Amino acid sequence: MKNYRSAARNSLRLAKAELSNGDDQRLKYAALELRMTIESLAYDRAASYKDEFPPSEYETWQPKKVMQVLLDVDPHAASDSTLRIGLEPSPGVAPEVMHDVGHETALSMAVIKKYYDALGSYLHVPTLKQARGVKPQDPAKLRMKCGEIAGALELVLASSVYNITLGSFATIECFNCEKPLRRRFPFGKESVRAECMECHAGYTLIGLGNNQVEWKPHQRKLKCGGDNCLTEALIWEHEIRAGEYWICTGCGGRNQFGLCVGYSPAPMNDPDTKASFD
Ligand SMILES: [Zn+2]
Ligand SMILES: [Zn+2]
Repeated sequence: MKNYRSAARNSLRLAKAELSNGDDQRLKYAALELRMTIESLAYDRAASYKDEFPPSEYETWQPKKVMQVLLDVDPHAASDSTLRIGLEPSPGVAPEVMHDVGHETALSMAVIKKYYDALGSYLHVPTLKQARGVKPQDPAKLRMKCGEIAGALELVLASSVYNITLGSFATIECFNCEKPLRRRFPFGKESVRAECMECHAGYTLIGLGNNQVEWKPHQRKLKCGGDNCLTEALIWEHEIRAGEYWICTGCGGRNQFGLCVGYSPAPMNDPDTKASFD
């Protein structure tokens, strides 16, 4: 896999070289390299969570989408953190002495949003609408902005430890396909949603306290459409779509989902809704 952290360092180095050049015409290249630094950092972080994403999807995600998903998987993903270790006097008892291993300044969503968008606005020709009545870009302002962003990114890349992804996880065998399903349960959250990467079955995990989690499958109880059949079936929500069907275990009939149009007559004779011209 590509080493995104060294790619980020490389882009940042190039951005700083463009900035130190002093030529205003080179500023947009500095902005471009800074944006690429941010993108590499986002992918670098995502790689450390790759077991928690469906790989086929996250491999094509844009950096902003990566960060949004990271925040959903682990809300603390973009917070600064310090890693400390200590020896427990006995299992489960807090250590008396803790040692600092290192500190991480993480790329936060706020940084992504603010910096990534601000840089992007310098990299496109303004639309016709934007061009009307808008002052031309001020190179001194862009130079200052790029300097500020380069400084922030340098701090992130100087972290002594990085991509700390410790957390509590809940694990089950998927009720649908029986493949193992693992989901981070972030501290302080009451519930989180999970999706099986194999079969896309959905779940809501509800925290019950004492490290206990309840997995609620996203299923609906549906009645067979047969005239005299009262048999119900549990159907996964992700399977409720036109063309899908289930065979009733009671009568053996086939129930197929389809699109339909519901019709209601015009409310002409309804005294409550009749228009009045008096
Ligand atoms: Zn599954
Ligand atoms: Zn039936």
